[in-house]
Amino acid sequence: MNDLMDKCQLLFTLVLNAVTHVFVSPITELIENRHQIFSCLYVCTTYLYYAAFKYIMSLVQSEPIIDIGKGPYPTKAYGTTSATIPLKLMKIERRALGPHDVLLDVLYCGVCHSDIHQARNEWPNTLPTTYPVVPGHEIIGRVIAIGNQVTKFKVDDIGGVGCMVDSCCTCENCLSDREQNCLNGTTFTYSSPDKVSSGYTYGGYSDKIVVKEHFVIRIPPGVDLPAMAPLLCAGITTFSPMQYWKVKPGQRVGVIGLGGLGHMAVKLAVAHRADVIVFTTTPEKIADAKKMGAKDAVLWSDEAGMKRYMNQLDLMISTVPQAYPMQQFMNLLRLDGTLVNVGALEQLKDLDGMMIALGRKSLAGSMIGGIAETQEVIDYCVARNIKADIELIRIEDINRAYEKVMNKDVRYRFVIDMASLKA
Ligand code: NAP
Ligand code: ZN
Repeated sequence: MNDLMDKCQLLFTLVLNAVTHVFVSPITELIENRHQIFSCLYVCTTYLYYAAFKYIMSLVQSEPIIDIGKGPYPTKAYGTTSATIPLKLMKIERRALGPHDVLLDVLYCGVCHSDIHQARNEWPNTLPTTYPVVPGHEIIGRVIAIGNQVTKFKVDDIGGVGCMVDSCCTCENCLSDREQNCLNGTTFTYSSPDKVSSGYTYGGYSDKIVVKEHFVIRIPPGVDLPAMAPLLCAGITTFSPMQYWKVKPGQRVGVIGLGGLGHMAVKLAVAHRADVIVFTTTPEKIADAKKMGAKDAVLWSDEAGMKRYMNQLDLMISTVPQAYPMQQFMNLLRLDGTLVNVGALEQLKDLDGMMIALGRKSLAGSMIGGIAETQEVIDYCVARNIKADIELIRIEDINRAYEKVMNKDVRYRFVIDMASLKA
């Protein structure tokens, strides 16, 4: 919008200068005291120019800037009321701004496989879904209002919201920047008990969202916004284990499953100058993995290929959404290697205690990343021009997109253009 305003201003200046020059100068040439008249005209045209500019901007601006402190805000959203009903348009409300709250006009929202798990209540034992649910936790928005004590953002900045919107901020985990592991319970972006308002949180498949400024990530100007959205979940979830297990140049990093998280894992591990090996169930993705910088890509069904990497990998990141026979990949770790499971968040299966002990191997889990680390991955990717590979969709295509994700048929993240919800 600022860019548009600058262009309008420039255009007006050029036009009015030309008018002044062509029409006014020859007339004033004939008049006595033309310098005073010319100054007077100059002031008048400047005033006219300013008024016209203001008027045009009021027509051009798509939405007025909302005043600080107003609300609650009626909000359009897409969600569902049960595990078996497709997502559809619904109306929700966003709370009035507290002193540290930011109101975002949602521009883009990524579609994570977790959205599907949650919409369909696929984690009933650990994270049961509370309906109605509005999914979406890869949110990019423009700040349209701020609480009166907000310091991190001003109106018109771009902010990002990932998988959490609140935590106690006082426990030892929060104080060490791991709000995602809050000992008093992280508030996730959707289907989580809302400690500020009553009820449950609603996610980013919506046209507005109110979030405490601490949980909003700064997105620098001039970046490819839709391609940034997936970094807020897929990016941080795969970046965090690489930082914690300190991936070094030349180490071998395995990525199991080349989907939304997997393709970010490849790009980020390549940026760490690791040798990346992808393990996929989809033959057509082998070429893509190599284009993303992977040294090799192996089909799970390729016995010789799997054997080639026996005891070879320093770190593996598993992004497969369902439980699967995992021991075949534990066998690929070298002594002291770690397989970090970020996918299947349920009962794991087929693990062999003896094989894990013999190789002093570790199986670990990891949950997204803290706010500071999420800011870090955004800055890391911006500095290196790392982006997600996305397919932009309209909100009404969301149910079809879910089916495609389930069929491993997305290259590599759907991102919703939220203009389609406002239309
Ligand atoms: P996705 O885009 O669907 O990618 C998953 C990939 O896993 C697929 O593309 C496919 O890759 C592979 N795969 C193997 N077997 C599969 C099967 N039976 N069904 C579907 N895919 C299969 O999913 P995502 O968004 O990357 O999320 C992956 C998982 O991570 C989800 O379970 C999600 O809930 C979880 N997650 C966890 C965290 C966390 O903090 N721990 C954060 C975000 C998401 P190939 O075609 O290459 O085999
Ligand atoms: Zn996610």
